[in-house]
Formats: sequence, structure tokens, C-alpha cells
Amino acid sequence: MKSKIRYSVIVPMYNEEAVIQETCLRLKSVMNRTGETYELIFINDGSRDRSAEIIREHNYWDPTIKLIDFSRNFGHQIAITAGMDYAAGDAVIIIDADLQDPPELILEMIPKWQDGFEVVYAKRTKRNGESKFKKWSASLFYRVLKASTDVPIPVDTGDFRLMDRRVVNELRRLPENNRFVRGLVSWVGFRQTALEYERDERTAGETKYPLKRMIKLSLDGITSFSFKPLKLAGYLGSMLSGSGFLYFIYVLYMAFFTDVTMRGWPSIIGVLLIFNGFILLMLGVLGEYIGRIYDETKGRPLYIVRDSYGIASQDWPAGQ
Ligand code: UDP
Ligand code: MG
Repeated sequence: MKSKIRYSVIVPMYNEEAVIQETCLRLKSVMNRTGETYELIFINDGSRDRSAEIIREHNYWDPTIKLIDFSRNFGHQIAITAGMDYAAGDAVIIIDADLQDPPELILEMIPKWQDGFEVVYAKRTKRNGESKFKKWSASLFYRVLKASTDVPIPVDTGDFRLMDRRVVNELRRLPENNRFVRGLVSWVGFRQTALEYERDERTAGETKYPLKRMIKLSLDGITSFSFKPLKLAGYLGSMLSGSGFLYFIYVLYMAFFTDVTMRGWPSIIGVLLIFNGFILLMLGVLGEYIGRIYDETKGRPLYIVRDSYGIASQDWPAGQ
């Protein structure tokens, strides 16, 4: 039964009632054009609006539309992960619910997959209708990430991509809690290729990634793929203590061999503030890592499913 499904499309959604109907229709019309079997798996990430009901109604008439309903909001990256756990297709496509990623691009991804690429990711050449700050911060994030990691994570690339069953099976073996899925996809390797596109404006509704969540995602990305921030403390610390030591020799020299009195208060306060600030900052960096270690040691499940529709219970979770 499972192996009959060719394509699984994973759509995470969080309060998307304004667009979900249209997303569903557009995805269906695109997937129908492939002429192959498919399933659309919507993951309701604790929406407080009618998103889940809309999909449930669709599921009633159309068994290719399926729903996984989380018990609360677990976050975008976890929703995608759940989708991969339940997807049964030979190829799995991840797409946002807000139509910022044009579903029609899937039809260009499929030939590349058939050519033998196991991952086809969509790279944004332009972002339409997003604020200057969002564009700037996103671009900064991708560059910092690239500079700080050894895994070649492609820049300007979101989670919109097609992955072969083999890639999905490998991803499902990675148990980490603080997930940065696009980084994990790079980490597993395989033959990967990019497809360029212009990112559209959100069709309706508003972004579910306020600044706080963007920072969390960036920190997850950087801390899961790099120790460099930790090493930074060592490098900067040794530079600072080195220069502090030289300055101290200078102060001693002035005190013993000249009549010049060194003025104290402002410079002491200045140095204290800088150094204490630096120490606290580095404690914060340590904290980011330790907090994540703590999260991982608890070994809690990544998500809790309240209900699922259209997914046969023996398929829980699907895949091999
Ligand atoms: N999303 C989710 N859970 C969340 C936040 C977002 O499932 O906690 C979904 C959201 O419904 C959308 C996708 O993740 O389908 C991307 O979110 P959004 O469009 O708000 O991000 P942006 O495009 O602004 O970066
Ligand atoms: Mg969006």
C-alpha cells in the first residue's frame, strides 16, 4: 500500500486559515499534472484557528489529503520532521503553507530527481514583498552560518525542497530536538542540486516567524553545526588578557620610573564594563550550548500527535 505512493507533499501550518484552502487547491492541481500517485500531508502545528478543520473537511472527500494534528505548537522544524515520519512517498516534498514557495516549481524539481539527484532544493534569488529588515537579517544569518560551519549549508535556501526516500530515511535516524532541518539535509550528503526561484509574497495572513523565533532558529542552526562560537571565547579571551598584561607592564613602568600619575576611575570603569560584558556574553554562548545539551539528554519525543486523519494506524509512523 505504502509503496504505491510516488510523491508525498509535507505542508506545515500554523494559523493559516486565510490561505490553506487555496494552497490545497493549487497543490492538488500541480500534483495532478504529474500523473502519478501522491499524498498531501498537512501538519497542524497547534493552530488556534480553523486551519485543521478545513483540511479535515477536505480529507472527508479526498483521501489524498491527510492531516496530522499536533497537541500544541511545536514549531515549524518539528512539524516538517513529523511530516517526514509519516510520509510514504518515494520522493518527499516540503513546502510552506502560505504559497510563498510556488507549488509549480515542484514540476521542475521532479525531472531533476529523475535525473538522479537525491535532493533538489529551491534557492531564492529574490524575495518579494518582505520587509527590508527581514531580507537583511536573513542574508546576514546565511552568511554567518556559512562562515561558522564546516557543513556546506547552501545560502538563501529555505526548507522548500524535494528529497528522495533514502535521504528521508537517513534524516529520520537523527534524533536531535533542536532541529535545523535544512542543515541536517546538507549533513546527510547525497547528490544535491539547486533550483533558483523568486520568492513570492505571502498570499494572506502574516508571518509566523517574529524576530524571537528567527533568532531561535539561527541559534539552532549555528549551535548544531559548529563549535566556533565556543572557540571564540578562547581566542578573544587570550587576546584580551595578553593586551591587559602588556598594559599592566606599562602602568608599572609609569609608576616606578616616571612622575606621571595615571588617572584611574574612568579607565577602570571602562575596562571593567567591557570585560564584564564580554564575560557575560561568553557565558551566554556557553548557556546556548548547555541548554541544548540539557534538552537532548531529556530524550523527550519531538512532538505529540493528538489525532491523524487519512493515515492508517498501521502506518504510524511510515517509512522503513
Ligand atoms: N509554521 C509552523 N509552525 C510555527 C511557525 C510556522 O508550522 O510555529 C509554518 C507556517 O504555517 C508556514 C511555514 O511554517 O507554512 C513558514 O512560516 P512563515 O511563512 O510564517 O515564515 P516566513 O515565510 O515568514 O519565514
Ligand atoms: Mg512564509
